[in-house]
Amino acid sequence: MEKAISFRVADAMPEDVGQGYIRIDNADMEKMEVIIGDILEIQGRKTTVAKVVPCFSQYKNQNIAQMESIIRENAGVGIDERVTVRKIARQPAQTLVLSPLDVTIDFSDAQDSKHLERVLNGLPMIIGDRLKVNLAGARSQYFTVIGTAPQGAVIVNAATEIKVTKTDASEDRSFRASYEDVGGLDKELQRIREMVELPLKYPEIFRQLGVEAPKGVLLYGPPGTGKTLMARAVSSETNAAFLHVNGPEIINKFYGESEARIREIFETAQRRAPAIIFIDEIDAIAPKRTEVIGDVEKRVVAQLLALMDGLKNRGQVVVIGATNVPDMVDPALRRPGRFDRELSINPPDRFGRLKILKIHTRLMTIDSSVNIEKLAQMTHGFVGADIAILCKEAGMNAVRRLLPEIDFSEELREEDLAKLTINMNDFFAAFRE
Ligand code: ADP
Repeated sequence: MEKAISFRVADAMPEDVGQGYIRIDNADMEKMEVIIGDILEIQGRKTTVAKVVPCFSQYKNQNIAQMESIIRENAGVGIDERVTVRKIARQPAQTLVLSPLDVTIDFSDAQDSKHLERVLNGLPMIIGDRLKVNLAGARSQYFTVIGTAPQGAVIVNAATEIKVTKTDASEDRSFRASYEDVGGLDKELQRIREMVELPLKYPEIFRQLGVEAPKGVLLYGPPGTGKTLMARAVSSETNAAFLHVNGPEIINKFYGESEARIREIFETAQRRAPAIIFIDEIDAIAPKRTEVIGDVEKRVVAQLLALMDGLKNRGQVVVIGATNVPDMVDPALRRPGRFDRELSINPPDRFGRLKILKIHTRLMTIDSSVNIEKLAQMTHGFVGADIAILCKEAGMNAVRRLLPEIDFSEELREEDLAKLTINMNDFFAAFRE
C-alpha cells in the first residue's frame, strides 16, 4: 500500500488553472516517494486525480495542498477542508468518453475537437470527474468523464481517442465562477465566505450552537468591482443554487406582479436550498421610505422584509444585496435579522489590478512583450469590469491585426494557428480606445 498523507486544501494560483495540478510540499513528496508529474489520488467526499508539483515557498511546512476549484469540486471538498492523498500508477488513456453538461452545444465542429484534444492533453482524469474547457467564442463548457479505457485513473495524450456524447446526465449549467476568478478582494472574499459559506455548508454546527447565521449581507461599492462575481463564486463553490434578482427590473417589468415575483423567488430558494438570492441594485427596490417613492416600491419593501423575517432557516438561504448607493437603502432593511452584515467593495489598487489582469489574460495567448505589471500601473482608476473589457478589446485588436495575414484559401493548420499571439501593442491600442 502506498503511503497516504492528509492535507488541508487551499486554492490554486491563477497561473495553475487548467493544469490539473496538486501542489504540495517537497518534503511530503519525498515521504510519499513521488516525483514531479506523478499522479496522486485525492480523496475527499469524492475521489479524483491530479499531477503532483512542489508548492510555492510561502506554503512550505504547512501541510497544505493547493488545488484549483474544478479539482476541489471533483474531490468533493472546499477550501480549508482535508483530503487524503496517495500515489497511484499512471496509465495512458486509449479512449476517453465525455458528456457535455450543456446539451445545446454542438460538437460536430472539427475545430472544437482539435481544441479539446489540445487542452486535455497531459491531464490526468478518472470516471466521474468534471472538466472545465474554454471553447472558442463560448464561455466555459463543462464535461463529465463518463468512460475511460483502460479503467481507473488515466492520462490523456495525443493518441487518446476522445468521444463526446450527450446523455441524460447533461444539464444546463449556465455560469459558474470560482474564487480564483475574483482578483484583489482577498479580505472581502474571506469575510463573505465566513458569513455565507460556513452556514451554508455546516448548518448543523450553527443549529447545535444555537448561533444565528446571517440572513442578509449587503455589498456596496461602485459598479463593476466584482460584487456579482463574488456572490456567484460563493454559490458555485458551495454548490448552492443562485437566484439573480435585478432590482429595477423587479420594480418596472412586472408592474403589479412585483410582490408575487419576489415571493416566488423566495419559495424557489427554499425549495432548492442551500441557495443564495442575489439582489442587484437593491436600492431600486428598497429606497429610503422617507424619499418620495411609489406604491409599488412600498409594497415590495414590505414584502421583502416579511419574507426575510420569515426565513426560519439557519443559513440555508442567504440574501445578498448589492448597491452602489448604500445611503439610499431603507434603514429598515439594515436592522438585525435582515441585512445586518455589510461589506464594502472598493476599486482595486495596483496590486489588485495586477491580479485581475492575470485572471483575465490567463486563457489568452499573449506573447512575451505583454508586461502585466506595466498594464496594472497604466490602468489606474479601472475597476474589474473595465479590465475585463480592456483584455477582450486587446484580443479583438489582435484578431483584426492578424486576420489579413491569414491565407483562408487553405485549411488552417494547427502549427500556423499556434503562431497567433496577442502582444503589448494590442493592449496599448485597447487602452487608447
Ligand atoms: P458588480 O456586480 O460589482 O457591478 P460584476 O461582478 O458584475 O460587478 O463585474 C462584471 C465583470 O467584471 C465580472 O464578470 C468580471 O469579468 C469582471 N470583474 C469585476 N470585478 C472583478 C474582480 N475583482 N476580479 C476579476 N474580475 C472582475
